[in-house]
Amino acid sequence: MAVKQYVVIGLGRFGTSIARRLHEAGQEVLGIDIDEESVEDAEGYVTLAVVADSTEEKALTSVGIKNFDCVIVAIGDDIQSNILTVMLLKNLGIRKIIAKAQSKRHGQVLDAIGAHWVIYPERDMGERVANQLLSPNMLNYIELSKNYNLEEIIVPSKMAGKNLRELDVRAKYNVSVIAIVRSDDIIISPSPEELLQKEDILVTIGNRKDLAEFSSIE
Ligand code: ADP
Repeated sequence: MAVKQYVVIGLGRFGTSIARRLHEAGQEVLGIDIDEESVEDAEGYVTLAVVADSTEEKALTSVGIKNFDCVIVAIGDDIQSNILTVMLLKNLGIRKIIAKAQSKRHGQVLDAIGAHWVIYPERDMGERVANQLLSPNMLNYIELSKNYNLEEIIVPSKMAGKNLRELDVRAKYNVSVIAIVRSDDIIISPSPEELLQKEDILVTIGNRKDLAEFSSIE
């Protein structure tokens, strides 16, 4: 994987998780926070951490912010600082600005001033938890469109030992199995004769409602 340079502004819980994960993956991460203690705590999991107020243009230019590939604004509670920072970054011509929004309205402001990706961590996590409760066998999902998902679903126990033809998953549940993950292997486009095994994970595509039904089979 190519190494990219990231800046994470705001080393609270959210910023910390992003910085830590990127750093673990071998990426270069500059952490910025106005609070000295947060910067000291960050030293083990970022490439470099500095104390700075991101609402001051000088502070941003003095760390060479223009040379970075991507800047993540993870300031949460202080909405004013969050918006001001995004505005400054935009004026400085930063290539990719990701910003955390506290509410829908806040997100609309961030969109309007040109943030490239606005994220709503609380809302998205809430949706994920609800989806997990509605579909207990689902491990992970990607929204492909408003109605369609790609989902990883654990094989319902009553389906183990049967093949896809006799289970007739596509006709009965309106769900397409595009791959099967079995231990460390992946079977792409499984044949209809493929016998499902306990603990297989099915990679499926379908309408969200149909997938919810399929992933709730006992
Ligand atoms: P979380 O909910 O993710 O923990 P917080 O809002 O509690 O988010 O934390 C955001 C972090 O952003 C804090 O560590 C805070 O010190 C930092 N911060 C707030 N304003 C600025 C600023 N102007 N410049 C740099 N860091 C800031």
